[in-house]
Amino acid sequence: MSDSGTVTKTGLVALTGVNKHFGDLHVLKDINLSIDEGEVVVVIGPSGSGKSTLCRAINRLEPIDSGSITLDGQPLPSEGRALAKLRADVGMVFQSFNLFAHKTILQNVTLGPIKVRGTDPKQAEKRAMELLERVGVATQASKFPAQLSGGQQQRVAIARALAMDPKVILFDEPTSALDPEMIQEVLEVMVDLAKQGMTMIVVTHEMGFARTAANRVVFMADGEIVEQADPEAFFTNPTSRRAQDFLGKIL
Ligand code: ADP
Ligand code: MG
Repeated sequence: MSDSGTVTKTGLVALTGVNKHFGDLHVLKDINLSIDEGEVVVVIGPSGSGKSTLCRAINRLEPIDSGSITLDGQPLPSEGRALAKLRADVGMVFQSFNLFAHKTILQNVTLGPIKVRGTDPKQAEKRAMELLERVGVATQASKFPAQLSGGQQQRVAIARALAMDPKVILFDEPTSALDPEMIQEVLEVMVDLAKQGMTMIVVTHEMGFARTAANRVVFMADGEIVEQADPEAFFTNPTSRRAQDFLGKIL
């Protein structure tokens, strides 16, 4: 409760004073970031600025040294079933797809719901097929990941994340490993998700995506959030010197 008596609403995902070191390297420096339900936040910044570490911390793939991270107001669990549930609630799509190579496309999507959510296998398959349809790869369901193009694999990875009914999905440079002609098909699926109200944290340098789908751009450099703004303001009029330099290099 604030002084005025109204309930202060924290974001769906909230980071407060988060610090993380790798040895002597201070990779996350006092990060404060709150993301509302339904918000799409694009994180950009130079290589090595801590963007992946930030994503991994929210999914608790990396423990933090100090500060707090909450999901739906609850501190992130550190172990056991609660951690497995957190990983289901916080979907993650990586640059390198990370599909299970020895499972079919359909199994890739059904495995999590069956194992972690306890979904009935028949029900999980039905839902998986709907999701594969939605991302445009339903005809590939019985194939193995290596038989699909990179763009198709990444769309399967998105379907796999969606199958868990996550509260938020983190995307860490989801199109960086793709051939140029496949980038658009993945971005289209992501834009569609954003329009349907999915809460998304997206590390990407795709300005088109940021302009079309993001509510906010967060610019990171050297482990710090240097600047945040709506996409149009950020790209046309970055206020910090570091953001100006960065945009000068990538635009
Ligand atoms: P970005 O995703 O913005 O390129 P990262 O979060 O991957 O940045 O990395 C931030 C910094 O932390 C880099 O200097 C990187 O080399 C370092 N780093 C990342 N992961 C590890 C690790 N597991 N051990 C040691 N250093 C790491
Ligand atoms: Mg990275």
